[in-house]
Amino acid sequence: MATKRDGPDLQRLDRIVADARRARDERDLGYRERALKLYPWICGRCAREFDRSNVSELTVHHKDHNHDNNPPDGSNWELLCLYCHDNEHQRYLEQPGTGSSRRDATPSSTHTPFADLASLLKK
Ligand SMILES: [Zn+2]
Ligand SMILES: [Zn+2]
Repeated sequence: MATKRDGPDLQRLDRIVADARRARDERDLGYRERALKLYPWICGRCAREFDRSNVSELTVHHKDHNHDNNPPDGSNWELLCLYCHDNEHQRYLEQPGTGSSRRDATPSSTHTPFADLASLLKK
């Protein structure tokens, strides 16, 4: 039994995973920031408006569902709120042959009618 290499190999694996995560995060940040500069902060589906305080709930959707397709003119991006983004992906996932894992929770608990309430109160 040669188990000598387990230690270093596991460490290397950890680092590879960490690197991959960081690369993905940086890539995500890259297109998100670019999309937020290109487009007004409005959900493309429900037209909800966002500002600095809640822009974290505004997400960048890839129209062709390919997160590696990030043309500089933004033609593959669409800004959607979390709720509409989930809807969009659920529709897409219902089609056969597409597997995508989103760790986002379902919109039911986090997205409440309070969003509408808040806008009503502002008036
Ligand atoms: Zn929306
Ligand atoms: Zn999307």
